[in-house]
Amino acid sequence: MPGRYKDKLEKLLPEVDGWLSPGEIDKINFLVNTIMSTRQKQSIFSSDHLSYLPDKNEHSEKKILSSYYSAYIKIADGCDNHCSYCIIPFIRGPYRSRTIESVKEEVKNLVKHGVKEINLIAQDITSFGKDLSGGKYQLPELIKSLLKIKKLEWIRLLYVYPEHIMPELIDLMKHEKRICKYLDIPIQHIDDKILKTMKRQSSEKSIRKIIENIKENIPDIALRTSVIVGFPGETENQFGKLKKWIKKTEFDYLGVFTYSREEGTPAYSLPGQISKKIKEKRQAELLKIQSEIAHKKNTNRIGYTFRTLVEGFQDEELKGRTEFHAPEIDGDIIIEKGKASEGKFVNVKIIDALEYNLIGEIVK
Ligand code: SF4
Repeated sequence: MPGRYKDKLEKLLPEVDGWLSPGEIDKINFLVNTIMSTRQKQSIFSSDHLSYLPDKNEHSEKKILSSYYSAYIKIADGCDNHCSYCIIPFIRGPYRSRTIESVKEEVKNLVKHGVKEINLIAQDITSFGKDLSGGKYQLPELIKSLLKIKKLEWIRLLYVYPEHIMPELIDLMKHEKRICKYLDIPIQHIDDKILKTMKRQSSEKSIRKIIENIKENIPDIALRTSVIVGFPGETENQFGKLKKWIKKTEFDYLGVFTYSREEGTPAYSLPGQISKKIKEKRQAELLKIQSEIAHKKNTNRIGYTFRTLVEGFQDEELKGRTEFHAPEIDGDIIIEKGKASEGKFVNVKIIDALEYNLIGEIVK
């Protein structure tokens, strides 16, 4: 917000003591100290508000803010994809990768402090390295480098752009057990005309091909995707196509977002804006379809045993996650029998399935 609406916000919220644009986040201590010592309002707005990217030194002693066994690692910032509905490239600027050494140093430090799972994040992690290497996608190199950290147990890949998934990445996932068999691939839609207006690099054909290829190579992978319903001009027919595709493809997890009109984006002024009521109706329809798929998929897991990371308690019972569950979004395994401490790996046999959670017991 300060990046976009600096002047308006300062007038609107005179009670705020300090303002920072996103590019100046590393100066937050300085800002607070200055406010405290001068007792005066302060603002730091850089002309280049897109310059910030964590570097090696800053992260060498990073505090672990999430649980001590799982952490998110931001490997890049910004985005060059310029989807027509998205404000992120305007706020975050062009894609900027950290170096492999910088990310590795941070992960090494986290692992030294007990972290077992790292979740790689960026607006598009598959573009990692392209800005530093003359256009070569370097995510596989980064992962190979992280795999050298012996005590790191799980590497999870969140937010991959479908068309940037390289065969080398799939091959690595297929053969390396410590990379979670899990991918979060936002596809946004399946209708070619909508994808084109969204300025996605995808087509129905390319998406189908990519998903088929992943499933063929890694049959037990868990896939998450997200879609937007009610994009300007989306007809009943086009929505019907999306519905059919979601039913047929059976993603393990699905996020359904209603199109949100963002000022300053090309899609903002497109004709054929859809009413809130229709958007929400379409969203509810997809979520209903997905809840049946999720329940079916969970039921199929009954009787199988999975390596599970114990994550504390839900009410009185232990809970945990497998490699197929990203933290906080994909549900949990409620562990009804057996004892283990938080942050430990145990084998859990699934004995029952709910819509989003699984029920299990610890086995040897
Ligand atoms: S939707 Fe994702 S890929 Fe598209 S511009 Fe926004 S951040 Fe980039």
